[in-house]
Amino acid sequence: MPTFTTPAIVIRRADYSDYDRMITLFSPELGRVEAIARGCRRPKSPLVNAVEPFTSGEFQLYSHRDRNALEQCQISESYYELRSDYDRLCHGVYWLKLLDTAILPDTPAPELFIITLRALAHLNYGELPPALVTFAFECHFMRLMGLSPRMDGCVRCGRPVDGEARFDAELGGTVCLDCAGSAPGISNGARRILMKTPRTQFDKFQLLAAREEWPEAARLMRSYVNLKMHLDRFAPPLVESDAVQREN
Ligand SMILES: [Zn+2]
Repeated sequence: MPTFTTPAIVIRRADYSDYDRMITLFSPELGRVEAIARGCRRPKSPLVNAVEPFTSGEFQLYSHRDRNALEQCQISESYYELRSDYDRLCHGVYWLKLLDTAILPDTPAPELFIITLRALAHLNYGELPPALVTFAFECHFMRLMGLSPRMDGCVRCGRPVDGEARFDAELGGTVCLDCAGSAPGISNGARRILMKTPRTQFDKFQLLAAREEWPEAARLMRSYVNLKMHLDRFAPPLVESDAVQREN
C-alpha cells in the first residue's frame, strides 16, 4: 500500500529541518502513525493547518520503506475555540499526552478514538467545566487501558465495600475501613461515581455536573492517573478557580 488513507487526529508535532514537520497521528485502525509533512511550514502549503495538534480528519499518506509522508488532509475539525482558551487548552494538551503515552503502532483503538473525538467536541463547544470532561475522559481512557481502579470491593481484603472507605491510588482502588491504611478517605457518593462512570456510555457524564461529589471523584482519579501513567507534570487544574488564581 504505497498510498493509504485513514481517519486520524494529530496528537504531537515536532519541527524538522527548515520547512518540514514530523507529526504523530492517532488512527482508530492503525494506532500510532508517524509521518513527515514536507514543506508544511511554508506559508502557502496546503498542509499548514493539517499539522496542528488536535486537528482531525482524513489523512492521505504515502508509505515507502517503513516511512510515511503526509500527502493530503481533508480536515473535519480544527477545534479553534479550544486553542484560544488557556484553561481548555491545558486540558486538551493533557489528553494528548495521555494518548501519546498509550497509543502504539499497529494497535487499533477504535473505541478510544471515538471517545476522544466526543470529549474534544465537549471541550471545544460545550458549557460543562473542562475538569469534568477531563474526569470522564480519564475514566474511559483508564478502562480501555485495562487500568480502572477497583471501586466495588477492598483491594486489601477483597470484601465488598458499601459506604465510606479510603482510596489508595497506589494499591489501585478502594480500601475498606476495617483494613489498615493511611490513604485519603472517599465518600460513598464519590466512590459510586468512580465505579459507574467508566461503565456508563461516555456522553452520560454530563449528568455528573449536578452531583456535588464529582470534584472529589475527579481529584482522586487524577491522583490515580498520575501514578499509573507518570504524567503529573502535565496535569491541568482540577477546578476552574485554580487557573484563575494562577493567572492573577
Ligand atoms: Zn479491607
